[in-house]
Amino acid sequence: MQSNSTPPNPLRRREVLRRTVLGGTAAAVGLAAAPVVSGAAPAAAARPRGTADVTFRWLGVAGWQVVHDGHVLYFDPYLSRFDYQSNPALDIDPTIVDRLLAAGTLAGPPELIMVSHGHWDHLADVPQLLARPDWAGATIRTIGTDTVRNLLAGMGVSDARRKNFIVATGGEELDFGAYQVRVVRSLHSQSKGFGFAMPGVRVAPPPTPQTISDLVEGGTLAYQVTFGGRLRVLFSGGTNFVERELEGLRPDVVMVSMTDYSSLPDYLERLLTVLGGPRYVVPVHHDDMVTKFDNPNLPGTVDATAATRLRDAIRALRMPTKVIEARHLEAFTL
Ligand SMILES: [Zn+2]
Repeated sequence: MQSNSTPPNPLRRREVLRRTVLGGTAAAVGLAAAPVVSGAAPAAAARPRGTADVTFRWLGVAGWQVVHDGHVLYFDPYLSRFDYQSNPALDIDPTIVDRLLAAGTLAGPPELIMVSHGHWDHLADVPQLLARPDWAGATIRTIGTDTVRNLLAGMGVSDARRKNFIVATGGEELDFGAYQVRVVRSLHSQSKGFGFAMPGVRVAPPPTPQTISDLVEGGTLAYQVTFGGRLRVLFSGGTNFVERELEGLRPDVVMVSMTDYSSLPDYLERLLTVLGGPRYVVPVHHDDMVTKFDNPNLPGTVDATAATRLRDAIRALRMPTKVIEARHLEAFTL
């Protein structure tokens, strides 16, 4: 995993600083205390709307589970963590989900699965989650691009599940009652040399995908979810964004993808600035993607410089933003 920082560009940085002063004031109001870290999901007790906790668990890579007032949501849930470099076959392991559910570190069934794009480290486990026999009676909505919809069909997702797929292109505002989802048109990361692995779209269900190369990107979406009318959370699965699509958004929490961004100008500075200085940022997509959850070395696979780079950018921009360093599967509550 590469993590090179972009060399500073003085002209660009001055522009970012100026815009921060103009646009960062409102988001700085009401800076909350440090997040509560807890080991258990919140009870779905009857509390007034707008006060229920939002509990997060990082699932590794870009993935999240969020529980709010009894509602369970997943974003890019990739749990199999197979060794794709040794063998690119899609080696999906449902027993990992079984163990996480039995241990209580995963809650389910989810009522919504948000997918950023079609690559394996975001999508590969979605079919097995939708096919779990013990969740067969539950309505699980999945949201993503048309390519993701077609890939899921090729991966054998049932007609019944596919009926609850929401095709999105970005710009959609969706009201689920206890929470609202705004779909945001976004971009995949750009590697050195300006490009990324496995581009492409699927306009019809493909033959059953066999390897990671069969799961093409198909466009990238981000999602801002507003919980209980009080906590806005921006999830992204790609290390890039469309600046104009983020203008006016004021998320409280931003999950910041931290794969290589050396081809992008001032990635962190521009992101933090256009979002007005969010209360919290959480680095993601900075683990090795293959070390299993039960491996004691898992925390060591996380690139610790990601948090440092975020703090450096925040300090340079004079923002009040706090960095939350999530640990795999450990809950924290906001
Ligand atoms: Zn990708």
